[in-house]
Amino acid sequence: MDPEIAELITKECERQVYGIDLIASENYAFEAVIEAQASLLTNKYAEGYPGKRYYSGCEYYDEIERIAVERAKRLFGAEHANVQPHSGSQANQAVYLAALKPRDRVLAMDLAHGGHLTHGSPINFSGIFYKFAFYGVNRSTEVLDYDEIESIAREYKPKLIIAGASAYPREIDFKRFREICDEVGALFMVDMAHIAGLVAAGIHMNPTPYADFVTSTTQKTLRGPRGGFILCRKEWSEAVDRAVFPGIQSGPLMHIIAAKAVCFKLAATEEFREYQRLIVRDAKALASSLLDRGYRIVSGGTDNHLLLVDLRSKGMSGLKAQKMLEKALIYVNRNLVPYDDKPPYITSGLRLGTPCVAARGMTECEMVDIAKMIDHVIRNNGDQAAIEDVRKDVVDMCRRFPIYDWTTK
Ligand SMILES: *Cc1c(COP(=O)(O)O)cnc(C)c1O
Repeated sequence: MDPEIAELITKECERQVYGIDLIASENYAFEAVIEAQASLLTNKYAEGYPGKRYYSGCEYYDEIERIAVERAKRLFGAEHANVQPHSGSQANQAVYLAALKPRDRVLAMDLAHGGHLTHGSPINFSGIFYKFAFYGVNRSTEVLDYDEIESIAREYKPKLIIAGASAYPREIDFKRFREICDEVGALFMVDMAHIAGLVAAGIHMNPTPYADFVTSTTQKTLRGPRGGFILCRKEWSEAVDRAVFPGIQSGPLMHIIAAKAVCFKLAATEEFREYQRLIVRDAKALASSLLDRGYRIVSGGTDNHLLLVDLRSKGMSGLKAQKMLEKALIYVNRNLVPYDDKPPYITSGLRLGTPCVAARGMTECEMVDIAKMIDHVIRNNGDQAAIEDVRKDVVDMCRRFPIYDWTTK
């Protein structure tokens, strides 16, 4: 039908199959997830909620959404779930609309220390409509300092405190955050977009018992479709549902909601828990192999699926390293390190994550080899010969670890 696009999809398939993806926010969706989201469920409007739709013919959509909601609640132990947010960003937007008035005060993690755009960046709706203040990591330990967060909260008196990050390699103590919220009378929201898979597997502390609202994506460690969801206490269920629809969205993406249901089912299996444990083992192995090769790792290591590499000791910027590694078919993203002296476009660091490599079944042995490849490219300043060598090794490794059966014919 459309050879131009078909050819580009084929090329992209090849890029994914024969490249090593270390982007911490990415993953390979389960095959069953891709099947559900590629279905004719995309065809229909289902504005509203199960049993209260604005269009006729929604009986099967109602069942699908009810199943997705029940599975999300069970997986995380939540009182209420809304599975309609189109993305993590929309999930956050809906919670703000439900809980805040314009110009209310919010306290969140600094973007430059690992926070997220939707946690109050001045160029994002969040920073435009609400008054954000920020906490960061301690300069010497590079981990969250809860006493410091507590004193900022006492001073600032926010209506809402947000925990959760896009580039924080350590466990977050949600119980301690709850205590701070109670002390200053703030609502508590956790954005677990990155760590939702680890939480589902019981490897990271579950925020659900502590937070008034939990927001997340489904496409990251969970291996679901691109999308968002919200968990909350019963008392907030109506406000949250109203904030999602009709507050910020109209027609839900029912094919994506079906795919979310599939993802929540798969995330409740022992196989999934085993996969999440491998993600963490791989991240630790990658961090220690890079440490062995003289790289500085922010906070000295990792507890989760990602690590931050500070390239300043190697005299290289994040931007330059990212570009060189891309030529060698290793995909990473540049990232600010805490108290970075370079601007966000350049950065001094790389964020490396292991959800994709673990999904391919790569283990600690392969992480040692991948650290060696990264180092070979960087140590040789990205010269042509080094890149050629590493490209060959990458393709060899990828051949041994297919992503899906049907991509390696
Ligand atoms: C990825 C991410 C989001 C946004 O998710 P999108 O689906 O890209 O909108 C929100 N918060 C955090 C902490 C994230 O890491």
